[in-house]
Amino acid sequence: MIQWLFFGWCLFLGIQFGLFVHHFETQGQAGYYPRPPGVEGFLPIGSLVSLKAWLLTGHFDTVHPAALVLFLTFLAMALLAKKSFCSFICPVGTLSEGTWKLGRKLFGRNFRIWRGLDLFLQFTKYALLYFFAQLILVGMPTVAIREFLAAPYWAIADVKMLHFFTGMSLTSMVVIAVLSLLSVVYKNFWCRYLCPYGALLGLLSMLSPFKVTRREDRCINCGVCSRNCPAQIDVQHKVRVHSPECTGCLTCVSNCPEKEALSMAFWKRPVPGVAFVVIVMLLFSSGVLSGMLSDHWQTSLTYVDYQRLIPFASRLGH
Ligand code: SF4
Ligand code: SF4
Repeated sequence: MIQWLFFGWCLFLGIQFGLFVHHFETQGQAGYYPRPPGVEGFLPIGSLVSLKAWLLTGHFDTVHPAALVLFLTFLAMALLAKKSFCSFICPVGTLSEGTWKLGRKLFGRNFRIWRGLDLFLQFTKYALLYFFAQLILVGMPTVAIREFLAAPYWAIADVKMLHFFTGMSLTSMVVIAVLSLLSVVYKNFWCRYLCPYGALLGLLSMLSPFKVTRREDRCINCGVCSRNCPAQIDVQHKVRVHSPECTGCLTCVSNCPEKEALSMAFWKRPVPGVAFVVIVMLLFSSGVLSGMLSDHWQTSLTYVDYQRLIPFASRLGH
């Protein structure tokens, strides 16, 4: 329910932002809608640049401050409450789950990639993460970071992102269609093999004090937890799940037929599933609220800036 609420919220933000952009693309003829800062959650690579700028210079980006606030919030969520961003908030994760469930209905099951290839493909998302970390955190000097954050391209990176979806090229359509088809057949194909954001959150989540924990004295070894885990973790044979693939979705816990055999535990103390979900939501709202209250939420760009930049968006970045 929470996943679909967030998905609906993202759609709402997308439509509102689309109307905002349309106002400027029609030179003010279409009605004006305020810009929702939440769309900046779709700018994770720029956020990584902002993060480096903040750490090195102390300057908190004012052009897309919500991007950095959301990025920091998701990192904190991963550190404290596993990859809960992936299982509760990310709209791509929600769509991905919808597609493999559709596949299960169509084919009666989801397929598994051969173990060796599966491990190799899982490595791909870490390679992509390494690429971005190397490019931005290691290779980008402070002066280049300053220039990037002051450039018109960064100012309308959100508009470019919108155009990616509204004016999709044939290549992008083919890539998305192939990934969607693969997601019907294989569980969470994008998340499991290709998402560098998920890779980063997964590595941080290994430090989380929350872990799915199995009590060997209560477990009847039915294997239901392993069979139902969307991340294909062999929960049945673990005492504590340390895997960076675990999203804290609680599917294994809610399907376990034996009372107290499996739980989400804080250090080693079991926590009710609903309490874990409340903690996840509290972490998310605290992050967003602290951004809003500390005045790191609304962009510093003015109406006139957008009037000047949006009509030329397609020419920027080429
Ligand atoms: S089913 Fe359990 S082990 Fe698998 S990802 Fe969800 S919480 Fe983690
Ligand atoms: S579902 Fe529960 S009882 Fe069955 S193997 Fe997993 S932990 Fe044990």
